[in-house]
Amino acid sequence: MGKSGGDVIVVGGGVHGCSAAYELAKAGFKVTLFEGRYLSAGGSGRSAAGIRQHFGTEVNCRLAMYNVQVFRNLQEELRCPLDLEFTQWGYLWVAYTDRSLGQLRLNVELQNSLGIPSEILDPEEIRSRWGYLKLDGVIGGAFCAEDGHINPHGLTIGYAEAAKRHGALVMMKSPVDRVLVRGDRVAGVSVMGEEWHAPVVLLAAGPWSAPLAASAGVELPVAAERHQILVTEPVEPFGCPMVLCLDDGAYFKQCPNGTFLIGRDDPLEPKTCEVQVSPGFLEGVCRSVLQRMPILKGVRVVRQWSGPYDITPDRQAIIDWTPVEGLMVNCGWSGHGLQFAPSGGRLVREMLQGVPTFVDIRPFRLSRFEEGDLFPEPACI
Ligand SMILES: Cc1cc2nc3c(=O)[nH]c(=O)nc-3n(C[C@H](O)[C@H](O)[C@H](O)COP(=O)(O)OP(=O)(O)OC[C@H]3O[C@@H](n4cnc5c(N)ncnc54)[C@H](O)[C@@H]3O)c2cc1C
Repeated sequence: MGKSGGDVIVVGGGVHGCSAAYELAKAGFKVTLFEGRYLSAGGSGRSAAGIRQHFGTEVNCRLAMYNVQVFRNLQEELRCPLDLEFTQWGYLWVAYTDRSLGQLRLNVELQNSLGIPSEILDPEEIRSRWGYLKLDGVIGGAFCAEDGHINPHGLTIGYAEAAKRHGALVMMKSPVDRVLVRGDRVAGVSVMGEEWHAPVVLLAAGPWSAPLAASAGVELPVAAERHQILVTEPVEPFGCPMVLCLDDGAYFKQCPNGTFLIGRDDPLEPKTCEVQVSPGFLEGVCRSVLQRMPILKGVRVVRQWSGPYDITPDRQAIIDWTPVEGLMVNCGWSGHGLQFAPSGGRLVREMLQGVPTFVDIRPFRLSRFEEGDLFPEPACI
């Protein structure tokens, strides 16, 4: 027996599940979304929420341009209950080695060829624009003034609420135990032992997509990796852009409410979904950022947390139908997935409608791993 999940069951109430639910419900599909905990409980609610068009692969640049275009009017489009805080204070990558600067140059060349207004800056230009940055050893950087910030909780909840207004059923505290398969096609999902049926199931459960796909016999090369981050007390906003330091992976930015978000890429972090934090991160990242932002000395840290990246072997997303008919995945967004919610939702909707996707996303296909056709994103932390 079991219950009807409508036309499409979406698993995961992160930004991608909610954006897909919105796009699909708006297009007339009957959607049921299951979230195991609460909306934005995964990577989405734990992210640094940076928005950028600085990518080094064409597909990501094209999608990133679309994301920024959508973010400009999304507050109105979704009639968001929470302020989305979309702010364009820019995104600056700084390089300390010829190799890093060479890669930034290649990325910016590609971005400019596609219409992204990014630029390469020398140390003098960086100093003259952001006098408060102390960037000893920096040999250059890449900057895009259109990039910025969005509130990750507002974004996720905004999509979910708008999906509900279009008729979607959004169920929280409803963990999916497994995907149901009959013959070679998907039949629905089991939620705490109860069967829900639908002809299409979308797995948008971040790193948890892999075990769910495995329950349907599909192998997804997606692994979790813990990333830590912290937030300071607010200081008078002065529009400090996101600054990403390519020597040690540290990044910081000011949010519109004046707080600073500070994080660092650390390859030694555990490869799990656990969300513990460590005093070593707090000390290390504060030392690293204070060297670059001495004006933050004395500003107090108010909270530290962590969340999982969902990493694929090339740090690129997987958006595709699986070999099980009707089972689709959208996951593997690594450390840059929040900002791809607008394009991710649209792509899923177009794939379900059976129309050509607005950007060619063949590079994101699942079979690339088997084929050995990886396409690493060079602009990743
Ligand atoms: C510290 C940190 C900093 C980041 N910084 C940025 C950034 O600056 N910019 C950016 O664009 N991206 C950033 N990211 C990455 C970004 O957060 C993710 O790529 C994106 O949020 C992934 O969204 P998602 O919806 O695919 O997955 P998630 O947000 O992880 O959502 C998956 C959801 O599925 C639910 N779920 C899991 N299992 C089940 C189940 N069995 N049944 C039902 N539900 C289930 C989870 O509870 C979760 O809510 C960062 C991530 C982290 C951790």
